[in-house]
Amino acid sequence: MKLIIVLLCVVLCSLLVAGQVKFGALCSDNPGNTKRGCDGKYGCGNYGARRDGGKRKHLGLDIVCRDGATVFAPFDVKINGKAAPYKHNNAINDGIRLSGQGLCFLMFYVKPDKYSGTVKKGQRLGTMLPMQKVYPGITSHVHVQMCDKSDPTKYF
Ligand code: ZN
Repeated sequence: MKLIIVLLCVVLCSLLVAGQVKFGALCSDNPGNTKRGCDGKYGCGNYGARRDGGKRKHLGLDIVCRDGATVFAPFDVKINGKAAPYKHNNAINDGIRLSGQGLCFLMFYVKPDKYSGTVKKGQRLGTMLPMQKVYPGITSHVHVQMCDKSDPTKYF
């Protein structure tokens, strides 16, 4: 009985692992999708990190990306429009809503080449905006957020 359960898990678990969607490289200077750690006063890049002294939570995951770098499609995607992170405009207030691989997500701080249409995996979506102008000293990054605000970490 135990053996059957173990064998079943070997089969099912490997299927689950193989079926797990993974993001391809998002940024031209970060082929391994390195995540942003913590940088002093600006906080940390992980999902659920504290913001505004604990009043808010970080609802996305930050992937390191130097200002001006090229941002790529992580897999074949459809662009579903603009996604701006701030109410008040600034130099990095742009981004896009995307779907693909059964996922719906946003990417902030990207100046997209276009706000609609499709882009193939590894092709350019746009350019990383000048985050250092707004947050001097921060680890510049693309913010990835699922449309349902769930944790995107498992996709990286
Ligand atoms: Zn973020």
